[in-house]
Amino acid sequence: HEPPSSCTATRISPASSGIISNTKPADCSSLASLDLHGSISLPGTAITSEDFGGIYHHKPLAIVHPGSVEDIVKVVTMVNASPNLTLAAMGNGHSINGQAQALNGLVLDMKSLKGIEIFQGSPTEGPYVDACGGELWIDVLKATLRVGLAPRSWTDYLPLSVGGTLSNGGVSGQTFKFGPQISNVLNLHVVSGKGESMTCYPEKNQDLFYGALGGLGQFGIITKARIMLQRAPHMVRWIRTVYADFEEFRADQELLISLPEERTFDYVEGFVLTNNDDPISGWPSVLLSPSNSSFDFKLIPQTAGPMLYCLEVALHYDHDEDFVTLNKRIEGMLAPLRFIKGLHFSFDLSYFDFLNRVHAAEVAARSSGIWDAPHPWLNLFVPKSKISAFDAKVFREILKDGVGGPILVYPVTRNKWDSRMSAIIPGEDTFYLVALLRFSPPYPSGPPIQSILAQNEQILHYCTTAGIDMKLYLPHYKTESDWKRHFGRKWQQFLQRKSTYDPKAILAPGQRIFSRST
Ligand code: FAD
Repeated sequence: HEPPSSCTATRISPASSGIISNTKPADCSSLASLDLHGSISLPGTAITSEDFGGIYHHKPLAIVHPGSVEDIVKVVTMVNASPNLTLAAMGNGHSINGQAQALNGLVLDMKSLKGIEIFQGSPTEGPYVDACGGELWIDVLKATLRVGLAPRSWTDYLPLSVGGTLSNGGVSGQTFKFGPQISNVLNLHVVSGKGESMTCYPEKNQDLFYGALGGLGQFGIITKARIMLQRAPHMVRWIRTVYADFEEFRADQELLISLPEERTFDYVEGFVLTNNDDPISGWPSVLLSPSNSSFDFKLIPQTAGPMLYCLEVALHYDHDEDFVTLNKRIEGMLAPLRFIKGLHFSFDLSYFDFLNRVHAAEVAARSSGIWDAPHPWLNLFVPKSKISAFDAKVFREILKDGVGGPILVYPVTRNKWDSRMSAIIPGEDTFYLVALLRFSPPYPSGPPIQSILAQNEQILHYCTTAGIDMKLYLPHYKTESDWKRHFGRKWQQFLQRKSTYDPKAILAPGQRIFSRST
């Protein structure tokens, strides 16, 4: 089952999107002679120099909408031959710090390459999907559900591209069970920074296979990925319980991720909330649906501090499941947990609606304008041995007023991450994802962005001074010494892979790790 050599393309109509086919900007005039299947546009039309973060605004010279893998090879070859051009693949542009931007370079709009093909499995081979790099996970889910299948590992939010999350990691409440999305890939089709087009497997071209997974787009453009599938459940019981004590909360999370598969939930996450009635950050943020009874704050012990903790779990089931048995099973799994009795909420919904649960929050945030405001998010992997100290200083002190959005905190285990992949995680066997998903109205209705960035810096500074060997997830640094520290003993391997696959450093300049060489 070799993936087909090229994806089918969606041509973007010049009339509707303002795309021009014959532009000759000063530094990339040879683009016009490439005879592409796809098209070229100028910034300010289809895609601009923006991303979800809204902090960096680097304008490219032009945007290429590839119509085929051959187009990508042509563009990479042309950029290599130029003295100073760079090239950034852009998936859905949901980076925070300009990682998919290319100042005075070219942006490759990966969403113009379409293709999702499903193999339903055989007695000797499990099911999988071949998805083009620019496909969004929401579309992969819709296509696979049509035949009763689905990928095993997810992100919380689905309109992210396959190539974009595989260049980072892709983590969510299933990571403890199946590893991040990068641990669920059977092969990749990649166009390297030298313009070589190849399929990479764990056994063949493995250096590029593992290099590209979590590789921050540094070694090649992922044009297609073969992703493992499993049978999709019909329904999900989504459950939230509340804790006043961080130690009990984290011990229960750690217990749940350590149990054998059949005795635990299918999804384990958690978040921090403010101990007040703030509609965004406080008690109401725990309710799962309007049908949930209201949050009885009188149940919170007097000894509780400024923050509470919400364990979020989910269990899959099918339409024909016997509810008595299901309820008993769930009661059994919740019985040893030490949440505040009475602060327990649940909601049954379809598997699709569960995976797409952030969509409703997106709709609300778009209507209030905060979806389009800057998002100075901070994502960290914090080692288990330091998470209590982190809670005391960061959650309960620095962030005691919340961040205007979710503060996620949940454990994952190192053994689900292959150390040959480029992704960087802490050294301990268990570590926590901490995500500050900040949502504020734009200044002056909300705080100035500088003050939020300063708070992020304060957290990072605390980690350094407290000796917390955390790793940034979706990293962004300004100096080589910071990158070296980030990669630690994997820095030499990262350099080696860069010089092998993208020796002129044309790719993903927005990551600001390497400078273009001639
Ligand atoms: P882009 O921003 O377009 O690109 C990211 C990087 O990958 C860039 O350097 C780009 O050049 C490179 N790249 C893109 N496509 C390719 C390709 N085909 N080949 C090679 N390089 C490529 N992450 C999680 O792990 N879990 C979550 O639950 C989660 N939730 C999120 C929710 C929201 C609302 C947002 C905004 C982000 C979330 N993220 C989450 C982070 C997200 O996974 C990353 O930001 C991811 O990179 C976004 O995908 P994208 O397609 O928008 O990538």
